[in-house]
Amino acid sequence: MPAFVVEPNGFDHSPPLPDMERTTRERIADRLCEEALSATALAAEFSLSTATTLEHVEHIAASIEGTDERLLVAPPECADCEFTDFDDRLNVPSRCPSCHSENVTPPAFRIEAE
Ligand SMILES: [Zn+2]
Repeated sequence: MPAFVVEPNGFDHSPPLPDMERTTRERIADRLCEEALSATALAAEFSLSTATTLEHVEHIAASIEGTDERLLVAPPECADCEFTDFDDRLNVPSRCPSCHSENVTPPAFRIEAE
């Protein structure tokens, strides 16, 4: 797994989703405070699509901005050629643009107190 880096500007700040979704988001945030989890592992644990999971993570990143917590992101990485320079580091690439392998490690997230 690649080293975690702070991703300060990788998130858009869209309006928050309705309250119904807040509970799931808080539970995801709690899990990321406990341990680092990949986008696909989170999606499986919360029975969400990967896209929905990433949306929650983006909102979590926005909601903890300015607090003493921060979201760390381990960008996706090709398991075959170690390519990491994906256009969208918060997406789950289906294949590597460099070697076209489908063996791409999804991005992983963790919340840490400063
Ligand atoms: Zn590759």
